[in-house]
Amino acid sequence: MDPRTGFPIVGMVGGGQLARMTHQAAIALGQSLSVLAVSPDDPAAQVSPSVMFGQHTDLDALRTFADSCDVLTFDHEHVPAEHLRVLVAEGVTVHPGPDALVHAQDKLVMRTRLAGLGVPVPPFAPVTEVADAVKFGDEHGWPCVLKASRGGYDGRGVWLLADPDAARAQVATLLDAGTPLLVEQRVVMRRELAALVARSPFGQGACWPLVETVQSDGICVEVLAPAPGLSEERAERAQELALRVAAALDVVGVLAVELFDTDAGLVVNELAMRPHNSGHWTIEGARTSQFEQHLRAVLDYPLGATDALAPAVVMANVLGAATPPGMGADERLHHLLARYRDAHVHLYGKPERPGRKIGHVTMLGAAPAPLRERARLAAHWLSHGEWLDGYDIH
Ligand code: ADP
Repeated sequence: MDPRTGFPIVGMVGGGQLARMTHQAAIALGQSLSVLAVSPDDPAAQVSPSVMFGQHTDLDALRTFADSCDVLTFDHEHVPAEHLRVLVAEGVTVHPGPDALVHAQDKLVMRTRLAGLGVPVPPFAPVTEVADAVKFGDEHGWPCVLKASRGGYDGRGVWLLADPDAARAQVATLLDAGTPLLVEQRVVMRRELAALVARSPFGQGACWPLVETVQSDGICVEVLAPAPGLSEERAERAQELALRVAAALDVVGVLAVELFDTDAGLVVNELAMRPHNSGHWTIEGARTSQFEQHLRAVLDYPLGATDALAPAVVMANVLGAATPPGMGADERLHHLLARYRDAHVHLYGKPERPGRKIGHVTMLGAAPAPLRERARLAAHWLSHGEWLDGYDIH
């Protein structure tokens, strides 16, 4: 309990942009997010007055942090489940709990559980020796997709295996390095979607409109809300599925279900149990943002309305450029704001390393196509300091 405000203290493990934006939502509720960060330069450590420094893999650090909080939640899924089980046994409230979180930590555990629940997932198999991958590819067709079952993000930890020879080489190298692996069928898809829901300990559920996530090299670059051209029936089925998964796994907080849209129907790719990139559009684009909803859920408050505030909302990620832009971030922001008065800009306070998510831009409007073009230009400008359409800043 915070003696100054009388509110319970939510502690988030991890000081990235998700914690930073959750802190922003906490402020509106009269609260302040406590953060376990690694460095004072972490995005959330720069803005929260209540920061402890330590590693998320260090049980003592987690315990000390938890002692100063009423409920523990996460900015990423890398806290060892065994540490969380110890904390839960010691009486710490952890949302989502370790038995739920493990499905966002381990792709093999997740695939196995979802398949058991009758949720459509790609055919998959564990890989503990080279022959496992070769056998799977021979049975299910080449190319197939090899994945690290743990530790991957933004497409790192995903490899396309073209044929048995490629499988032999790639799998041997990864197994030698101690990487836990699974292999799955390459899904032929029309596009990728995400169903974002929230669930509270009381059991209340809420879901936002289904979105399309546009990927480039395994990284989400744009989110279109609602997913253009998706039938109401398919959207509702996906929302029901995500709520069913949230309840079955006893998730508390936000759950993102990444989906492949295929001719045969929707197939689940991934789960994330925290605010997610596919939900950044909700900050300005929905009645209740995913960050506020996550806080409401972990505090067991009633959940908020999730309807969109415009017919179309587009979010474009700002990625660090391969070559540093000639113009500083301050000047780029200045020009961006001059050109787009309706752009909602979020910058995370991160160094501009190539390909890294350093911010995002959201725009609301009447139809997705023109918005998408504008959001793409705006995000590209912030990344590179160049207007893709040749716009003259002078
Ligand atoms: P990460 O956890 O690193 O984000 P994902 O499992 O989400 O990895 O995969 C990253 C991207 O790789 C997906 O967004 C998708 O574009 C592609 N991908 C993953 N699995 C498959 C699959 N079975 N078939 C086709 N493409 C896939």
